[in-house]
This record gives sequence, C-alpha cells and structure tokens, in this order.
Amino acid sequence: MRATIWGCRGTLASPGPETVRYGGQTSCIAVDTADDSLLILDAGTGIRPFGMSLDGRRPKRVDVLITHLHTDHIEGLRFFGPFWDPEVDFRIWGPPAPTKGLEQRLAPFFSPPYFPVHMRNVPSRPEFLEVPDEPWTIGSVTVSAALVKHPGPAVGYRIENGDGSLAYLPDHEPGLGTDLTTIDKRWISGLGVAHDVDLLIRAGDADAALIACGGAMGGLLGPANGLFQFLGDELGARGIATLRVSYRRPNDANPTQ
Ligand SMILES: [Zn+2]
Repeated sequence: MRATIWGCRGTLASPGPETVRYGGQTSCIAVDTADDSLLILDAGTGIRPFGMSLDGRRPKRVDVLITHLHTDHIEGLRFFGPFWDPEVDFRIWGPPAPTKGLEQRLAPFFSPPYFPVHMRNVPSRPEFLEVPDEPWTIGSVTVSAALVKHPGPAVGYRIENGDGSLAYLPDHEPGLGTDLTTIDKRWISGLGVAHDVDLLIRAGDADAALIACGGAMGGLLGPANGLFQFLGDELGARGIATLRVSYRRPNDANPTQ
C-alpha cells in the first residue's frame, strides 16, 4: 500500500517559505492504484498540485473520498484538472446527513455567488455517493467508512488491498465528551476503521504539540492533541505501525529544531 500526502495543513492553505517543511496545502492524499484510475482522500488544496503532477495523463476513473465538508477538505476540487474532463468517470463519496444529500450540500459551494460555474455544468458531471454502512469495492481495493466524532457529519476511511491497509482519520476528536481512559476501547470513535491497520493517517504530532485538530476548529474543541495521541498510543501498544502526519495550523511556521 503506497500513498502520497499532497496536503496536510489544517484550516487554511498557507504555502510559502514559512511553511515549506510540512507544506502549506490542505488535506489531500493520493493512494496508488494498480490501473489507470485515481483514488484520492479529501480534496483540499493539495489536490491541485496532484492534478498537475499527472502531466497530461488522463485517468479513466477518479474516486474522491471526502471525510467531511469543512472547507479545507473540499476547496481544491474546483482546481483539479480531471474534474473538468468530460471523458472522466468522476465519483465523489462523502458522509451521509439526515436532511440533505451529498450533492445538495456540496453544490452551493460550487455555484454562484461563491463560484462562477454551477456544479451541474462541470464537464465531468460527477456522481455523488454517500458512503454505505458495509465495505465496498473501488477497483482493486476494499473501502470501509465509519462515522467519527467531529462537528458536522464526518467519516474516517479504511482502504485495503492485497498488500496492506491504510486508515485515514484527519479531523477527529475521539475523546470529546468522553473519558477515554475508562470506556471500553471498542467504543472509541474511529477504532472501527483503524484497528489492526498497517498505516494510520491522522491528525497529530507528538513532538511539536502544535496542533489541536486538523480542521477548521483549530483548537476550539479543547486539548485535542492529547486525544489524538491517545488513539495513536493505543494502536502503538498493540504493535500497529503509525505514521504521524502533522496537521498544522496556518500560522505554524517551520519548527526551529
Ligand atoms: Zn474538520
């Protein structure tokens, strides 16, 4: 299982010399596929340079798995080359909501007065799909999604192929309103998709302790770093390898050490 992180900045894109070490693009991970399709986790501004890296290669199919609709996870989609290609089979997956469908929730962001082109006129004519309860197949991988704690409907994803597994839980407050030290571990938000995974991508950085959460709340939810850490420690204690991706705030400059 191989994946490329094209964006891990929280809240607002902030590229520049001050943020060059971890990059300034917001959430976007590209998962390697075995064919001429693209599998992408979140559509923050990192999806724009990913599209540019294709260097003219035209994918047959694109699946974008969106964790939630906070701006920093969707704002790059409008500037992703294949989104404007009428020949691409373009699918956008995202969390369900009780009142409106995924297209109804996303389309206003892609329409006047926020954007000059209406979603219905986007050449790729994307299909909008709310994630199912059960695992499903995209190309050669199996995907599962589970609702996680974060303001507004939000999901974490697990991707598996014959080589390994990856879990992606970028914005997530598993301990919000819960004492994680006392509850049954099976009830920890996100553990359903993160259990026994080979590669876990989540918000948090033990060394810098700069983050509060990966997304728009930027610390308003309390000491989330410790909460993310808890989940990582739990997995680490069980021998699960973790990749700690730092979701830094826009004004968090390059660390000095
Ligand atoms: Zn968020």
